[in-house]
Amino acid sequence: MVAEKSDALVLRAVEFSETSLVVTLFTRDFGKIGALAKGARRLKSPFESALDVLALCRIVFLHKSSGALDLLTEAKLLRRFRPAGRELFGLYAAYYVAELLGELTDEGDPHPELFDLADETLLGLAAGEPVARRVVRFELGALRLLGHMPSLQQCAECSAPVATAGRVAFGQLDGGVLCGRCRGGKTQVVSVTAGALRTMTQMADPRSRTWQRIEIDARTLGEIRGVLNGYITNLLGRKPRLHQYLGLLWRY
Ligand SMILES: [Zn+2]
Repeated sequence: MVAEKSDALVLRAVEFSETSLVVTLFTRDFGKIGALAKGARRLKSPFESALDVLALCRIVFLHKSSGALDLLTEAKLLRRFRPAGRELFGLYAAYYVAELLGELTDEGDPHPELFDLADETLLGLAAGEPVARRVVRFELGALRLLGHMPSLQQCAECSAPVATAGRVAFGQLDGGVLCGRCRGGKTQVVSVTAGALRTMTQMADPRSRTWQRIEIDARTLGEIRGVLNGYITNLLGRKPRLHQYLGLLWRY
């Protein structure tokens, strides 16, 4: 067994015995791992309080063979997540980031860019940036980096460009927008404005430095949420747990 090092975000921590925790971590270099932290619940723990959910830490762990839990040997706290102000939405959004990282990624499948995006998102939420926009930016970035980005401007079936005005069909099961010819016979098709699709395209652009200045009005946000909520629910095979807590935010 080789000792591996990485930065990691704590996604989950579950009591394992009177003294130990089983943690799910999203590491920058090794992707998601499940690890046993022996003694983590002791008063004088070798991990201090580095294993709180949403904390960023630097870890050392022993990589076990397939199936077995890895063994965490060190965790040094780099940053704890503290939401800005007294609003709970920032905290819910941070838990949602953890939920999506846990549900959309596989163990041992590293995605350093996704790690950096999650880290940046938590920093933004802690700094009190507008939550709804941060969530959309993270969702679209995560979908792109994991190869699930929906097609927003070309028909997902035949690649024909779709209308740039009015309403466009979006196939929740078809990987994106559909042209008039391809939409026939499809189920779970929603209608979305071309304007909302344009905003999503801008929000998804990884090279964009201007996305933080994009104003998303309530109607457009409602449309974007309709598309993303359905799309992500289909991808996971169930509704993300945090959607119910974030729902009020999306109704603004
Ligand atoms: Zn088509």
